Amino acid sequence: MSNNIKFYFLGNCGSTPTKNRNLSSLAINYDGKNYLLDCPENVQQQLMKKKISITKIKGIFITHFHGDHFFGLFGLLSTMKMNQKEDELHIFIAKNYAKKLREILKLTIYDLPFKLSIIEVDSNLSFCFADLEVSAIKLNHSIDAYGFVFKIKDKIGRFDKKKALSLGVPEGPLFSRLQENKNVFVDNKKIKPEQVIDKRYKKKGFKFAYVLDTAPLKKIPKKLEDLDVLVCESTFLEKHKENAKKFMHLTTKQATELAKQIRPKTFFITHISSRYKEIKDVEKEAKKYFKKTQIPKEEVYCFECFI
Ligand SMILES: [Zn+2]
Ligand SMILES: [Zn+2]
Repeated sequence: MSNNIKFYFLGNCGSTPTKNRNLSSLAINYDGKNYLLDCPENVQQQLMKKKISITKIKGIFITHFHGDHFFGLFGLLSTMKMNQKEDELHIFIAKNYAKKLREILKLTIYDLPFKLSIIEVDSNLSFCFADLEVSAIKLNHSIDAYGFVFKIKDKIGRFDKKKALSLGVPEGPLFSRLQENKNVFVDNKKIKPEQVIDKRYKKKGFKFAYVLDTAPLKKIPKKLEDLDVLVCESTFLEKHKENAKKFMHLTTKQATELAKQIRPKTFFITHISSRYKEIKDVEKEAKKYFKKTQIPKEEVYCFECFI
């Protein structure tokens, strides 16, 4: 099992690609599985270049139904079919668009050799891939759009099942209590977590959010607290703030204002308008407002999840 989480940024452009920049999307590798956040055109070649296995993708998270966020889905599914992907794939899409997506898929993709589940997203989303929990926040865009929040819970250590059973703890809810670092009582005898958990194997959790596309949020959701990484759209420079307002996007200033309030450990901006030929200028402006801002490069970013 991998002890870290890897981020592969597959592009940083918004709306249309340029000769040198692909549309924004992000592939995540954790615990031997891959996840894809947004699925624009050209995503397949980007995945291949980064040697990310297409058949090992477990979940595709579509923030919203604008073409620059999902037009690559059909080609990708088709390749998954050709490559004989076997295990289930989950596609997450806003509730109001799930039906539309199902209809398009019916016309374009048939006889998949794996199970395809379309998960309808709203603010109550709560889904787990093993210890990777996913929730969603409603964004402020021209159509229904959701940001995704991923969390790997802290683990206090390695649970010794044999030891617990030998101390008379029955399998079931008491096991969970001990794993949550709580004492339990068996026949009036107190069993402490440290008796059955090897704390040398404690594991630090990890939390990150992917927030594309949106105008400024009216209220910052609690789910965005304590982030290790925030990936946020920043489509326009401040001088084009009227465009940001019109198309319901963020300027560098607005994106950094969000980051300054949330204070993530690492802050990336992406979905940068194709009008900007020199993205260095965008980074320079963003850094002026919030020094920690980075525009992701074509490299792998590795974040440790173990202490
Ligand atoms: Zn977009
Ligand atoms: Zn959009």
